[in-house]
Amino acid sequence: MSSSSSAQYALERSIAISAVERACSLTDKVFRNLVTADTVTKKDKSPVTVGDYSAQAVVNAILGSHFPEDPIVGEEDSKDLQKPESEALRKQIFGLANEALKNSAQECPAVAEAESKPSTQALGDRELTEKELLAAIDRGSAEGGAEGRCWALDPIDGTKGFLRGGQYAVCLAFMVDGLVQVGVMGCPNLPHDASSAKPKEGEFGAGEKRSDLGTLFIAVRGQGAFQRPIQGGKEEKITMRQISSLSEASFCESVEAGHSSHGTNARIAELLGITAPSVRMDSQAKYASISRGDGDVYLRLPVGDGSYQEKIWDHASGSLLVEEAGGKVSDIRGKSLNFGVGRTLRENRGVVASRKEVHSKVIDAVRKALEEEGRGHL
Ligand code: AMP
Ligand code: MG
Repeated sequence: MSSSSSAQYALERSIAISAVERACSLTDKVFRNLVTADTVTKKDKSPVTVGDYSAQAVVNAILGSHFPEDPIVGEEDSKDLQKPESEALRKQIFGLANEALKNSAQECPAVAEAESKPSTQALGDRELTEKELLAAIDRGSAEGGAEGRCWALDPIDGTKGFLRGGQYAVCLAFMVDGLVQVGVMGCPNLPHDASSAKPKEGEFGAGEKRSDLGTLFIAVRGQGAFQRPIQGGKEEKITMRQISSLSEASFCESVEAGHSSHGTNARIAELLGITAPSVRMDSQAKYASISRGDGDVYLRLPVGDGSYQEKIWDHASGSLLVEEAGGKVSDIRGKSLNFGVGRTLRENRGVVASRKEVHSKVIDAVRKALEEEGRGHL
């Protein structure tokens, strides 16, 4: 992509990167300081609550200062946080969010230019009050829809992965008239290089972080998909892997069997002659992984009666990454994901992502596997 500020959505791209970088350094800190073997044993979810709220406050405050008119569809709201018994949690979140907002963003000409405009409230000059931070979180309560500008945010996608020291992602997308135009995804635990080992689940601690972990993914419609270390560095263009036959492919799927039907995925693999074991990973890091060729097909087959409605913040940034890396993303019937019908993808069921050239073959196998299970109506 050209670094020229005249490139379409250059400002949205830069601000989104700055917001995701700051949110990732916050969630990484929360992970390293609050997630321990003990919290995992006790199934204590409090670290993810702290991370989720404070990351949403940071991203929304940044978006609010640059694009005050833009609606945001975010996963969290502050209702529970406002309860009297949440006072300690509130204080912890304000501390973390204000600290993240004070940290200056990486050198970025577009952000510096935007922040020098008198109309933009400079962040970091003063602490946001409790009221302002709660309001920032609640900026995420927009309904979405097919008209105008809109952002979608998942402050910690893959909360289970976050809690077990696996993969999670901070995902931010910018949409216009229901079409995703910019997608930025920070994966603090994903190696820069696919050939490096991913961190083992259950490896915690506040010690030195492995320097090869933490990858930022960026896509703008029509401009390609890119990755770079979250800590900074040169962006490199990424593309999906070229495979000569689907039998050489490998699948990416959720760790959680409650989020995507592992059994149906296994049958689809069999129908396509795929022998490589599926790679299980939490969060939209699955979209990022296939975008750079670590795997080839992301399958998210509905569980049970298929009544679950996927949320737009769980797919907006990831799906653009795959499309810009040479892929096609659809639901299980081959229908494009419609991000313009509200907070959920209610017109779609499940997700299938692969290279464009093989997508229809995957959809045929999906249909056959569902029919065999008596779920052909989905
Ligand atoms: P993953 O990490 O890919 O397993 O997906 C995590 C996301 O799954 C969460 O952000 C939830 O919004 C979403 N989720 C929760 N319940 C379901 C379900 N029944 N089917 C599909 N996705 C779900
Ligand atoms: Mg999510």
